[in-house]
Amino acid sequence: MSDLEMEQVRMTLTDDPSVLTALRTRKQMKRDADGEYYSVVFNSQELRFRENQPRVLGKTIASALMRSNYIIVGDDLTGDMVHILKPHDSYNLNDLIAEQQTCDYCKKQFETPKRLAAHMLDAHREEFEEPSTPEQVVKEPAKTRATPKSN
Ligand SMILES: [Zn+2]
Repeated sequence: MSDLEMEQVRMTLTDDPSVLTALRTRKQMKRDADGEYYSVVFNSQELRFRENQPRVLGKTIASALMRSNYIIVGDDLTGDMVHILKPHDSYNLNDLIAEQQTCDYCKKQFETPKRLAAHMLDAHREEFEEPSTPEQVVKEPAKTRATPKSN
């Protein structure tokens, strides 16, 4: 288990239409009840990236995801390798905590940034240590095969 990572990066799925088209063409976009997503598995946890839905990740994870998620846009031989994910702003959790007194996770208010910091470490540590909000792998109900009628 790594130390608490203070450097955080906000990431999204790319908004480049040609990349999204390539992902769909190559069947790399999946679908669930909330719509289309691009699935990344990191440390055996699945992260689902959707359009216009940023995720905040520790810098180490964000960097690892950038290094390993590409797609060829266009022809396999002549097309360009393009990043699938896009980093936006990065920030340091210390700075963030220094200027606010409301918890990002549970919206609780605190009298001082110091108390908020203590609360975050205590109550939400795993949320910024690991990929945030690990999504449950939705288990599809076992498909019951229709048994042929025996006459
Ligand atoms: Zn909280």
